[in-house]
Amino acid sequence: MEALRDEPLWTPAVHRPRSLNEAWELKRALGADGVYVSGSTLLRTQWEAGTVAMPKALIDLRGISGLSDIDEDGGRLSIGALADLSRCRRNAALGQTAPAVQEAVRCIAAPAVRNLATIGGNIAAGVGDCLPALLVCDAELAVFDGKFQSRRRMEDWLADRWSGTLPPEEILTGLWLAPPAGPSGNRRIEIFRKVGRREAFTPSLVTVAIGGFIGSEGRLSSVKIAAGGGSGRPQRLSRAEALLEGADIVPELLTSVYEAVFSQFETYSDPFVTVEYKKKTAGNLLVAELWKALEGNAGK
Ligand SMILES: Cc1cc2nc3c(=O)[nH]c(=O)nc-3n(C[C@H](O)[C@H](O)[C@H](O)COP(=O)(O)OP(=O)(O)OC[C@H]3O[C@@H](n4cnc5c(N)ncnc54)[C@H](O)[C@@H]3O)c2cc1C
Repeated sequence: MEALRDEPLWTPAVHRPRSLNEAWELKRALGADGVYVSGSTLLRTQWEAGTVAMPKALIDLRGISGLSDIDEDGGRLSIGALADLSRCRRNAALGQTAPAVQEAVRCIAAPAVRNLATIGGNIAAGVGDCLPALLVCDAELAVFDGKFQSRRRMEDWLADRWSGTLPPEEILTGLWLAPPAGPSGNRRIEIFRKVGRREAFTPSLVTVAIGGFIGSEGRLSSVKIAAGGGSGRPQRLSRAEALLEGADIVPELLTSVYEAVFSQFETYSDPFVTVEYKKKTAGNLLVAELWKALEGNAGK
């Protein structure tokens, strides 16, 4: 990191492509010297912290039309990668289709940052706070490969993102969300929680998300659990999911869920908190939210 700090600051060239093809060709020609930029809010913090070097060229995606629309189509919601977080936060259809995603957006930064920051930048970074929420909502992404736009499950895309196998020229163009279908008469639960070092306007230490259905008798189905936070890998927690699927929420089960989260959640220590603290926090948050969901059911 010190080595990066000592490097002279570049004044990068700024390219403003008008189409996906043009952006993709620029990236191919520039290679590692060119970086896609949307709101630049994350990149800026990385340059300032010295964790990433300022590139020689920026490829500003904001001039490409049609990438910031939010549309409903046959019950599905499509969100352009360039849609800013303020719009996502206000969008009523997002609140209905994927409340956990909207809650994640609500907890990111402050208005001035959210007016610039995009949902695509949050996802493309591979660590954004939206990702655990998107994992439990079974989100699909739209990506451009230089010729075609195609759709793929976000979970698969994220695995490639973290294994470093995504083509560097690939452009994220949007995401798709659909309200998941569950057993009739069951209530959809969808929850996102974030813990940072203070109440608001803080980077996350731990984020958790829950998606699923709960029957009137308190039985869960189609359960998805995810956790992330900071610069850690957002991940599904399959052991906790397996324990909860088809089960009634009772105190003994929640103890086992806590233990499953603690043992499976892969995270890292940082200058402020230990791995153990983050694992405990994830377990406690998830168990508390499951308990609240059960209590909410009892009141119905
Ligand atoms: C004060 C402050 C507080 C913040 N708090 C939070 C927080 O609490 N939680 C959080 O998650 N983030 C936080 N951030 C980081 C950032 O604001 C968000 O993650 C934001 O959503 C990133 O979007 P962006 O458009 O600014 O991305 P950019 O900075 O433009 O890009 C981020 C990365 O994605 C790539 N990229 C961008 N768009 C595309 C695309 N369409 N296709 C392919 N690659 C692309 C870029 O090359 C870069 O690597 C904070 C930032 C600041 C300055």
